[in-house]
Amino acid sequence: MSLANCPDHLEIARKKTPLQKMSHLSQKLGVDIFFKRDDLTGSELSGNKIRKLEFLFADALGKGATTVITCGGAQSNHCRATAIAAVRCGLQATVLLRTGDPHNPPAADGNIFLMKLAGAEIVWITPDEYKQIEQMFQRESDRLARRGRIPYIIPEGGSNHIGSWGYVTAMQEIKEDLHSHGVIDLMGTTVISATGSGGTTSGLLLGKKLLGLDLDVAGVNVCDDEEYFVNRVRSICSDFRQKYGRDISISRDEIRIIDGYVGRGYALSRPEELQAIYKLARLEGVMLDPVYTGKAFYCMESELKKDRYIFGDRVVFIHTGGIFGLFPFAPQFEEFL
Ligand SMILES: *Cc1c(COP(=O)(O)O)cnc(C)c1O
Repeated sequence: MSLANCPDHLEIARKKTPLQKMSHLSQKLGVDIFFKRDDLTGSELSGNKIRKLEFLFADALGKGATTVITCGGAQSNHCRATAIAAVRCGLQATVLLRTGDPHNPPAADGNIFLMKLAGAEIVWITPDEYKQIEQMFQRESDRLARRGRIPYIIPEGGSNHIGSWGYVTAMQEIKEDLHSHGVIDLMGTTVISATGSGGTTSGLLLGKKLLGLDLDVAGVNVCDDEEYFVNRVRSICSDFRQKYGRDISISRDEIRIIDGYVGRGYALSRPEELQAIYKLARLEGVMLDPVYTGKAFYCMESELKKDRYIFGDRVVFIHTGGIFGLFPFAPQFEEFL
């Protein structure tokens, strides 16, 4: 099988990111661990979202849009990447950011600062409003249309059938990366990433199917629960099948969501998660973020400590980025440093 019918995309990200073997970590945990460095998709564009946005922005431009609208948590990596990609494409960006008290929004640091630098329009909304995000999108769309703009809505995390192509094509890279590390037989390989809106996990699963790869895909949910993400992934994959007419089916067993590592909740950290981040920084010189990659990494490490072969002989951990979200957490690391 192949990736024929792959829709148009822009070339904004630095792709063919390195696949690096983490030799100290592999030695420590007793299986081969590779990091797919999708934190290196670009300096200000760092992370997984830009792969999806390359497809979404191509669609937006094709439809004649002048402004993109999207949403996320206060320190959203997705909204930051969208704001910057919009500038590159000559579009404007409006981002709906979730915060407890919209009249007292959080300090403009980390991703918020970068969104402001890039000139995005920030609209602060409450968690209750965020639950009605479709209505919020409609409200903002109408407002922008009245000002003569042509809005294009990008869903949370860029996670829909269009955005998921970003990780279908990333799976092709991973296959080639493993080949160049001498791994030809992919059996016994698990590709792990953090799951926050389901687009990355969906894309990886679709990529595995379309390319006919003999490996496993696992997502570590950083919010909600297993059932929620199984349904998300199913719905994205079913839209994908319908829109692109691909005859692929993904069974329930293939959707592996590892629940139990949400901890204190979305964007809230436990000491053991922060500890895993600082230990990896000292072991491999790689920085994770507390909201996504830190939780997914802590999960992977904990599961491997329980059962060394739980993921087979080899793990490809996707470093999905998040570096700018690390800085606002600096005070919480003080006790370790
Ligand atoms: C958004 C995000 C994820 C989760 O990806 P989804 O496609 O939304 O599930 C993982 N890591 C980082 C750093 C992110 O910003």
